[in-house]
Amino acid sequence: MSIKVAVLGAQGRMGSEVVKAVTAAGDMEIVCAIDVNDDINQLVTSGAQVVVDFTHPDSVMKNLDFAINHDVSVVVGTTGFDEKKLAQIKGWLSVHPKVGALIAPNFGLGAVLMMQFAAQASKYFESVEIVELHHPNKADAPSGTAARTAELITEARKSVNKAAMPDATTTALDGARGAKVGDVPVHSVRLRGLVAHQEVILGDLGETLTIRHDSIDRTGFMPGVLLGIRNVVKTPGLTFGLEHFLDLK
Ligand code: NAP
Repeated sequence: MSIKVAVLGAQGRMGSEVVKAVTAAGDMEIVCAIDVNDDINQLVTSGAQVVVDFTHPDSVMKNLDFAINHDVSVVVGTTGFDEKKLAQIKGWLSVHPKVGALIAPNFGLGAVLMMQFAAQASKYFESVEIVELHHPNKADAPSGTAARTAELITEARKSVNKAAMPDATTTALDGARGAKVGDVPVHSVRLRGLVAHQEVILGDLGETLTIRHDSIDRTGFMPGVLLGIRNVVKTPGLTFGLEHFLDLK
């Protein structure tokens, strides 16, 4: 039986791609595609089993409150979640035990795998640095993906008591060694012509390993969104991060 999907933010850049991707998939169908001026009650009257939300950090909590409290599972790409918001969502889910909620800061399967591979590899290399490269219209530096990668690497290295990375620098221009996130130097490049790219460079005696991910287009997020829809209907409770729906053992 096909999964009944509603899309919130259906006129947006991501939401409109989700409508196309769900329509093209054989095992799910769009029953409701609404945007900011539409009536949210359509989520319920359409019989949606899963709501995909790519809207705005200011509206997403209201949407999730409505969906979860009407027993509809949610797949969320909208950004801006902190511990307080996650605790609120867990509270709603606790009284709707059959409902699933996937919140994924990054739906790019390649990006998620890059982060996981980099964290695993970092346990076995003396040093690791990140270079992230983006278009010049990006407001934040380093990127959220780079910061998250650095955090995962820092945790992985801590778990095996890795020694501090060697660095003999005694004089440097401001920023020449990047910005440290956890233990990891992160270098941000901003150039027209780029989309969203990241390299994690690992080094030790006599060898280096480079893990690189290139995001070319927002269609690259769609296999991850579809994977999320398929899994959230059979995974009650809160899942934070798409990696939990991947077989990484
Ligand atoms: P966008 O083009 O601005 O699309 C958002 C759409 O949602 C707009 O049409 C907006 O309408 C609408 N909207 C706002 N509030 C709504 C509400 N309460 N109900 C229904 N629709 C509502 O933005 P985008 O580039 O698609 O990005 C959307 C979100 O996804 C952002 O938070 C972005 O950071 C995030 N994102 C996440 C990933 C990931 O992998 N997790 C990837 C890309 C983007 P108006 O324009 O009229 O306000």
